[in-house]
Amino acid sequence: MLAAVPLDPSRTVAELKELRELTGDENGAQRVAWTETWERAREWLRGKLAETGTEEQVDEAGNQWFTLRGASDRAVLIGGHIDSVPNGGWLDGCLNMLAGVEVLRRIAEAATPPVTVRLVNWADEEGARFGRSLFGSSAAAGSMADQDELRQLTDSDGVALPDALTEHGVDLDRALDARTQLDSAAAYLELHIEQGPVLESLDLPLGVVLGTFGVERHRVTWRGQAAHAGSTPMDVRRDALAGAAKLALEIRDIAARVGDGAVCTSGGVVCRPGIVTSVVETAEQLLDQRHLDETRLAALLAQAKEAAARFAEEERIDVEWERIWSIEPILFDETLIDFADEAIAEIAGTSHRLPSGPLHDAAEVARAGVPTVMLFVQSLRGLSHTKLEDTREEHLELSVAVLDGLARRTIDWVAAGGGRSSG
Ligand SMILES: [Zn+2]
Repeated sequence: MLAAVPLDPSRTVAELKELRELTGDENGAQRVAWTETWERAREWLRGKLAETGTEEQVDEAGNQWFTLRGASDRAVLIGGHIDSVPNGGWLDGCLNMLAGVEVLRRIAEAATPPVTVRLVNWADEEGARFGRSLFGSSAAAGSMADQDELRQLTDSDGVALPDALTEHGVDLDRALDARTQLDSAAAYLELHIEQGPVLESLDLPLGVVLGTFGVERHRVTWRGQAAHAGSTPMDVRRDALAGAAKLALEIRDIAARVGDGAVCTSGGVVCRPGIVTSVVETAEQLLDQRHLDETRLAALLAQAKEAAARFAEEERIDVEWERIWSIEPILFDETLIDFADEAIAEIAGTSHRLPSGPLHDAAEVARAGVPTVMLFVQSLRGLSHTKLEDTREEHLELSVAVLDGLARRTIDWVAAGGGRSSG
């Protein structure tokens, strides 16, 4: 049994404000990864954990780990990221870290925990300086497959990514050695602000995240015939934009048919020649489709392709599909989802299950086979990545208590043999 040293969630809110003072300015948070301000934030975090008796280690990818040894080496991980975008908000990423600090304090003040508990500050979640998100967590998960491309990346001042990393003691060639950090991981927990409007619209403080959306992104190119806008009768035109326009409307029906949270976006259409006196010859349309279920994601794509072929025939034009990017849905662990539901119900009342649109470090950890779950706490006005990002203080405090409730259940579960067995 873990002794009942009370949590102090109000301390978390005070520390978030302290961090904001230390690393923000009038435009918001400035903790961009691989900068001095980011190092200052990491140093400050180190100080916060000094009294807990945790051991600190910075791994080969720059992730900062704080380990509280338990009776068993099998570890429950709590993660977040202290880096921010430029002019960022005061909660994104660092709420997770500071709530984790408070939970660790509570556990550390009691007797030796039955399993090891580790808090991880992932390096460069945002990818704000070099455009590559989830750097540290993808290295630890072993899914970083783009080291050759990373070598070529430069920031807006022309500094190469490998050089910036070296300044912070990270050798890009060795970053994947961080994989050993997950060897003992039995479960992974992450609290985050929602960064969207769903929980606020339901008037609920917290929700459980089911997983992250799978994404299909395509460029759909329609080809017709340029022709004079005055001399070409309507019935002989081969108008490329007509195909794109029909598809842009059809994807609403497709999303409704497939259902269960499906979203489809025609985010842009570029027309050529793009002048007022010509029928459109080429229309390049960008299409983004997302679903939490792999089969339904495939259905979204198949139905869009089917409809596009039909529209091409109706308009006597050609259509061609090119995949720009895709990722499979990443589902969180069912047992941990239940624990999260219970913890929310116990501390904050009604729970709600929702998918995550954005990717998070948790998705990388889940991909590596570690049972994972995330908690979302309500964001006001759904805003994030701006200094306007905010959450009610009472909800922040509730979120710390819920993370603690989830951690208690997870520790008991892992102690009883649940979670991933050591890799
Ligand atoms: Zn974040």
